[in-house]
Amino acid sequence: MLTKKFPYKEDYFQVFYHMDCLEHQAFVDHPERPQRLAYVLKACEEINQSCSVSFQQAPAAKLRDLSLVHSKDYLRSFESCVLSGKSQFMSVDNYICDATIEAILAAVGQSFALAESLCAGRSGFALIRPPGHHAGKAKAEGFCFANNVALAAEKIREEVSGAKILIVDFDVHHGNGTDALYHEDPNTFYFSLHGNPEHIYPHSGYEDERGQGEGLGSVSNKPLPNGCSGTEWFACLQRNLSEICENFAFDYLLVSAGYDAHKDDPFSIMKVEDADYLRATEYLYKLAEQHCDGKIGFFLEGGYSLEVLSRLIPGSIELLADLTSQQA
Ligand SMILES: [Zn+2]
Repeated sequence: MLTKKFPYKEDYFQVFYHMDCLEHQAFVDHPERPQRLAYVLKACEEINQSCSVSFQQAPAAKLRDLSLVHSKDYLRSFESCVLSGKSQFMSVDNYICDATIEAILAAVGQSFALAESLCAGRSGFALIRPPGHHAGKAKAEGFCFANNVALAAEKIREEVSGAKILIVDFDVHHGNGTDALYHEDPNTFYFSLHGNPEHIYPHSGYEDERGQGEGLGSVSNKPLPNGCSGTEWFACLQRNLSEICENFAFDYLLVSAGYDAHKDDPFSIMKVEDADYLRATEYLYKLAEQHCDGKIGFFLEGGYSLEVLSRLIPGSIELLADLTSQQA
């Protein structure tokens, strides 16, 4: 819980978080740990109260709400696996504990609240864990169980049927779950820039994976070389998005915001620096202003350096709040 009070205003940048997201925890050291979020929330206490940002805890979702994206069989087997006291689900990476379901429902609840905010014309950030972009319709992997960004996209479509959505994924890993969910959907464009699939998990996201059937051409995967610089990373983001925006008109921009391309991340795959992340954040915000009335939502994915997360996320929130106040 944030001890500092940030007064709520409707036209502020909206940040959603929930303390239950801290309860999902492994028995042994695991990179996807509660401290990731705890450190970020603690650092958010330092944000100036005059900043145009509001922090809220939205209600948790119900397990059945996840069927917007995930199969009923998958949700049933996930629930029974947690209740049976097992320590992992579907993948050795996906540890579970007694509070895993609560943490996931809290994360999805924040994703839904952000989706509703976007539908009301606002912008915001869901500070959540566990992450979601590797989770498929009936698959948990890569620390992910429920695909938060896809659940937000489908929540938006419940309110605004036929909404066209651009998903930008700047996590260093390819969001194979999100890609698979939307690769046949012409109304959702999925753009990901990530590390070379030959070398890094999940070993997918090659440039020739561009969607299928009606969705052919609505997926853009851009693998980047190991040790890629932030300048190269940002140039790739900018070049591809300016092209995508010429050909795909969208109503909402959702960002799978992973901070593991940072040079100080323990996975240490790329050399992206704070300034590059902030430049990308500002660029995405302005893209949303230009193309979809500023309706942009960021969803926390990966990023495993506590120092990087606790510096860069509050920094990004301050930047986004400033941009929001300039727009108002
Ligand atoms: Zn990642």
